[in-house]
Formats: sequence, C-alpha cells, structure tokens
Amino acid sequence: MEAKKIRSTFIEFFQSKGHHFVPSAPIVVKNDPTLMFTNAGMNQFKDAFLGNEIPKYPRVANSQKCLRVSGKHNDLEEVGVDTYHHTMFEMLGNWSFGNYFKKEAIEWAWELLTEVYQLSKDRLYVSVFEGDPSENLEMDQEAYDFWKEIVAEDRIIMGSKKDNFWEMGDTGPCGPCSEIHIDLRPENEIAEIPGRDLVNQDHPQVIEIWNLVFMQFNRLADGSLKELPAKHVDTGMGFERLVRAIQRKSSNYDTDIFTPFISFLEKKSGKKYGQDEQTDIAFRVVVDHIRAISFTIADGQLPSNNKAGYVIRRILRRAVRYGYTFLGFQSPFLYELCSLMAEHFGDIFPEVRQQQDFIAKVIQEEESSFLRTLDHGLKMLAGIKTELSEKGEKVISGKTAFELYDTYGFPLDLTSLIARESGFSLDEKGFEIEMEKQKNRSRAASESETGDWVHVEEEVGVDFVGYDYLETQSHIVKYRTV
Ligand code: ATP
Ligand code: MG
Ligand code: MG
Ligand code: MG
Repeated sequence: MEAKKIRSTFIEFFQSKGHHFVPSAPIVVKNDPTLMFTNAGMNQFKDAFLGNEIPKYPRVANSQKCLRVSGKHNDLEEVGVDTYHHTMFEMLGNWSFGNYFKKEAIEWAWELLTEVYQLSKDRLYVSVFEGDPSENLEMDQEAYDFWKEIVAEDRIIMGSKKDNFWEMGDTGPCGPCSEIHIDLRPENEIAEIPGRDLVNQDHPQVIEIWNLVFMQFNRLADGSLKELPAKHVDTGMGFERLVRAIQRKSSNYDTDIFTPFISFLEKKSGKKYGQDEQTDIAFRVVVDHIRAISFTIADGQLPSNNKAGYVIRRILRRAVRYGYTFLGFQSPFLYELCSLMAEHFGDIFPEVRQQQDFIAKVIQEEESSFLRTLDHGLKMLAGIKTELSEKGEKVISGKTAFELYDTYGFPLDLTSLIARESGFSLDEKGFEIEMEKQKNRSRAASESETGDWVHVEEEVGVDFVGYDYLETQSHIVKYRTV
C-alpha cells in the first residue's frame, strides 16, 4: 500500500466511525506563548480539552504536521542517526471530546491496524499504565480489560508513569495512556529474544507507533487529581512509522515517503545510499530537514536570527553542512528538492505546492549565504582541533564556539555536532558567557548613543552572515503576490 493510500485509509476509517476530518493546523504556533511549534495532533484542540471552547464536532480525525525540535519534545539529535525520529513528521489522530472513551478507542485502533492495514498480530504489543502508589493512582484496569478481549495477555505490557501517563502541563487534563509498539525484526532475531523484552528499550526495530491517551483527570494547582466530568480520547500515530510497518521496511527512509528524495540526492551527488553509515546519516538528515524547513516556511515562518526563525535557520544550516561535508555539495542544493516536495505533499498539504517558488527562493538564498562562510569556519575548526589534539585536549572553548557563531554563522548545536563527530566536546557555558559579554557590549553602546543623532552607514565589506528577512506577515504576503 502506498503512503498516500495509507493516509487516506486512516481518515476514511475514522470517518466511517462518525469522525469529522479536520485539516492540519499550521506548524508554526502564533497565539500560544507556551509553544513555538505544533508538536502533537492535540495542540489545536487544547482549548476544547481545557473546557475553554465547545468543540464543533464530538469526534474528529486528522493528519497533523508536527515539529519536535524544541521544548519538551526535542528529537533533533536523534534525527538521521536513528531511522524513526524526524524533526517534522505527520501525526495521525482521532479524538473524542466527551464522547466515546477507552473501549471504542482501543477496539478501533486494533481493527484498523490488524484488519484494515493487516499488520500481523504476532508483531504487536500494547502497554497499559501500571499505576503509581505515590499519587494514589491505580493501574488502568479498564484499559487492560478491553485489551484482554482482543490481544493475547502476554502481549500486554505494564508501563510506568513516564511512558504511560500523559499530562498537558503542571495543571490541566491528564490521564493514563496505552501505547502500541511493533516488532519489525527479521524472524530469526525474534526467535532469539522476544519482542516483549525490547519494547521499552529503544530498540531500532521494535518501535512505538501509536499512543492512545485517555484524559480522565484534571490536575489542580495544589497537585491533586480530580476526575473529569467529561472524559476525552486523544490519539497520535506516527505516519512515517506506520508506513514503514505496512511496507515492511527496516527504516522510515526506505518507504515511498522518502525514497524519491533519496534517489534525487543519489543522482546529484553520485553517491549511493546504504553503503557507508556516515554518508547515510547525511542522506537521512538532508531529506528529513528539507521537509521541516519547507513546511515551516510554507506556514509563514522564515529563517531569521531569533526565536522560531532561528530554529529553522539552525535546521537549514545543519542540512547544508551535512550535504557539504558528506555528500560533496559545494553550492546550493537543498532548494532543488522543493519541486519534489510540491509533487509528493501538495495534494494533502496544498501550501507547499502553492508556495513552491517562494520556499525555494528563501532556501536558496539562505544556502548561498551560509555556504559563503562555511568553508572558512570548517577550516578554522579543523585547525583548532589539531592544535588541541597536539596538547592532548578534547574541549573546544566557548570563545572559539562563539567566534564560529558570530563570524561564520555556525549555530552552537552545529559546532557541537561537528565536535562530537571527532570525539571533541564543547564548553557551552563558556559560549553563553561570551554571548552575554557581547550583549552587554551592544547594550553599553546603545546606551551611550541615547539622545544623539546616529548616522547609520551601510556596512560595506562586512561578511554577510545572518541574512534576515523582515518577518512581518505583510512582507510575506507582499512577497507572495509578486
Ligand atoms: P518516542 O518514544 O518514539 O520518542 P513519543 O512517545 O515521544 O515517541 P508521542 O508523544 O506518544 O511520541 O507521539 C505519538 C506518536 O508520534 C508516537 O507513537 C510515534 O509514532 C510518533 N512520533 C513521536 N515522535 C516522533 C518523531 N520525532 N518522528 C516521527 N514520529 C514520531
Ligand atoms: Mg519522544
Ligand atoms: Mg514513547
Ligand atoms: Mg508515546
């Protein structure tokens, strides 16, 4: 089954169970100070769960664009190194707002996975909250009993509060959850160690695919839990992982969601995917990151030097550097993937098709700007590493990291990544101190200028590193209509 069909089947399945399809909310969150990017399907329904808004439909389903690169969920360091955490991914979900509860959520999840998608029951495991005496929380017997009706009991695993109790925040709706995991190892490996033993061990082939959250409590400001009058269901399933399971691949990147992008890069670089681990990581990082960048720009967040914009710039620069160092791309290349993005995602997310040219232009300019200094920065870093090695040292100073940031446009996480690749570490505290010093210097400068006429000369001959777009919506709109 092709990825597109797998997605539409999910939606149609829940429509047949009385759910209303809701389009994905933007990836960029503008009206919530607690969240920079959408990181779960439930974000757009937060007010319904908090009781601030009466939902239009009691049952909804959708496929939500999510980005997990900041805050509570930050998977950036996993991306490319493993094959099932992405920066940007799609989360399929179904919700009940005070309508159905555990029985239906469990039965439908199982029906969809095993009957519609025909995933083998012998490879699936489910987890149930084991309880927490310190909070007087009992195990989720209800969920256990519903699972027991459809799943062999040796496939039900007890899970701790960390994995099987979901909370929106310090206060607010919360409750136990049941996760569904799948064992995708070859038969001979399964014969040696039962999948059951690997579910909670981050095994690369025994992965979590779906999380069913049962919101039944409200956490009050004094920390106590109160039973909610109306109970809700909130589920989230990683689309790329589901496709991998159905297409029986050993990596998300071998599914038809990513293969067209990998093939493009193979042709362009002359390198083959699947032959060398470091090169493979670069392939994966690039095809992952281009999605994150394109979708975010399509939703109105341009790369810039602060907040959400800087997160996107960091992701983009990471991709550029992986392409440069491991795939041999010395001139802009990422932007060329934008037409493939439009082709493959334009049907379900029309914004990436409608704004294809704009997105490509922004990315190309960002790439050119960073490539102008990348080589110098990398050489400087290599020189410093050699010097340190000669002295038997392994820590790159905060001062160096700051110079790379300030002069060459290297985000701290990028310097740290490059350092780690050759066994070095980074003095991040030292970097923060340098950063603070610079802020103080510019504060002092602007204070001394207060009240004076300041004639701003155009800076000529300065390395142009931090290319900044005007970030107002009107600018974007104006740009798009050109
Ligand atoms: P994991 O334990 O694998 O990091 P999670 O428990 O953090 O996943 P949830 O918050 O429960 O994930 O999100 C619901 C589903 O979204 C997961 O079951 C998984 O299939 C998918 N998912 C979560 N994070 C990612 C990611 N970074 N990339 C791709 N899919 C993801
Ligand atoms: Mg996670
Ligand atoms: Mg998990
Ligand atoms: Mg989970």
